[in-house]
Amino acid sequence: MRVSNWLLQRVQQTPTAVALITDEQTLTFADVWQTVTHLAAKLQTVVAAGDHVAVLGENKRDFYELILALQQVGAVTVFLNNRLTPREINYQLQQSDATLLLHATNFKELVDSLNVTNLPALSFVSVANMTATPLQLRSTLELKTTASLMFTSGSTGHPKAVQQTYGNHLASATGTAMMSGLSTTSRWYCAVPLFHISGLSILMRSLLFGCAVVLAPKFRAEQLQQLLATGAITHASVVTTMLHRLMQAKTPFTCHPNVQLVLLGGGPVTRELLTACQAWQLPVTPSYGMTETAAQAVAMPLDQVATKLGSAGIPLFQTELRIGNGDTPPQTVGDIWLRGGNITPGYYQHHSDDFIDGWFKTGDIGYLDTDGYLFVKERAGDLIISGGENIYPTEIEHVLLQHPLVSDVAVIGEYHPQWEQVPIAYIVSEHPLHKADLEAFIATKLAKYKWPQRYVTVAKIPRTATGKIQRHRLRNKS
Ligand code: ATP
Ligand code: MG
Repeated sequence: MRVSNWLLQRVQQTPTAVALITDEQTLTFADVWQTVTHLAAKLQTVVAAGDHVAVLGENKRDFYELILALQQVGAVTVFLNNRLTPREINYQLQQSDATLLLHATNFKELVDSLNVTNLPALSFVSVANMTATPLQLRSTLELKTTASLMFTSGSTGHPKAVQQTYGNHLASATGTAMMSGLSTTSRWYCAVPLFHISGLSILMRSLLFGCAVVLAPKFRAEQLQQLLATGAITHASVVTTMLHRLMQAKTPFTCHPNVQLVLLGGGPVTRELLTACQAWQLPVTPSYGMTETAAQAVAMPLDQVATKLGSAGIPLFQTELRIGNGDTPPQTVGDIWLRGGNITPGYYQHHSDDFIDGWFKTGDIGYLDTDGYLFVKERAGDLIISGGENIYPTEIEHVLLQHPLVSDVAVIGEYHPQWEQVPIAYIVSEHPLHKADLEAFIATKLAKYKWPQRYVTVAKIPRTATGKIQRHRLRNKS
């Protein structure tokens, strides 16, 4: 199925609506159309439709425009995380069959350190300095076409290249708009990276619903506080670390009534943090999703956040959810499966048994309560089964993190001759911590069978570039 070229349609409908706000400038869709088509006219001298073009950029105007220009020439954009090591980037370039690498000037050194043969690299500036040739406008987009290749975070092993089609982005954007009320006067704060689905999906929503992207190169708690207090934004996407920093910021502030939604994604969130947000009257909505679902697939209706503390919410309009084979009773933990227009058709050149009859097995486990609200418990592979009891590492981690001297923690299962598996806690602390003290702390909070058998002090917990715990790296160590 074909639909209108989103940017073209948007500029025809609302040319004077604001498309992009950065620290330096405010651009309307008419401005964006002009610069993007101009850039596309240059790009097409080096990029043909269907080419896999890898990009390394930051949350700045040049990257935003380049992403849109690549769409106008019909390229498949391969999003690279700019915080990865050269080795990790090489792997992703090879996996994605990229034929060109475009990068912001800041990443010149990183690009020079890559050793991919036969891969031309050009800076955004050198593209901008190219000579334009007349651009053949695309009036339509094919929904089945892959718009972006985006790698998963690599929390459980090697990152996988997810194919995100135009149809996936459309379903994701409409599902979000239906839950969050988007219009041409909405302004969505984006400090989450454009190279992740959390950031790219904001850009897609902007094209489809005419709202503005408020682009921040770096998250600054004071800036977000000010935007929330003055009502200069209506929506924001955040991850838990950003919320923590926002809550720690010294100046007390009241959230302006313009602010409709602060979408929280990317990983589990503690009840304590959510309760604190409620006290500040922040309209925080927890959500659940992954690279494979083109942003959140499940989100909390705002008026239920307080009553359903700990839940990730209900599926978006375009998404179906089942636990196990679908017959699993409420409150019973099983595999989380998803189906809908936002789910990827699959990984690039990599077969996976997790796609069956249109359903996708997410790799996470959780349950639905009697009202159909999802509670995500764990990644299936991280569940610890000890003497027949299920133990969820995240639960233990959340408790230990409340200890004032624990600055980071990760829990994994270790083989035990009697119990099959027992939990082990890896702890980062600047102070000597004794098992007895930690046990006294967790005693009233965790049943005894959940108590870690050992506490190992480490300098650092292995995490992905986005801060997710890589438990498999600890397992390999123990
Ligand atoms: P990889 O697939 O390479 O191991 P990853 O799964 O961390 O990495 P992403 O697509 O960035 O890659 O993250 C999606 C995952 O994040 C989900 O599958 C889930 O495990 C976790 N996650 C997302 N939202 C939540 C949530 N609300 N609660 C718990 N976990 C969540
Ligand atoms: Mg994953």
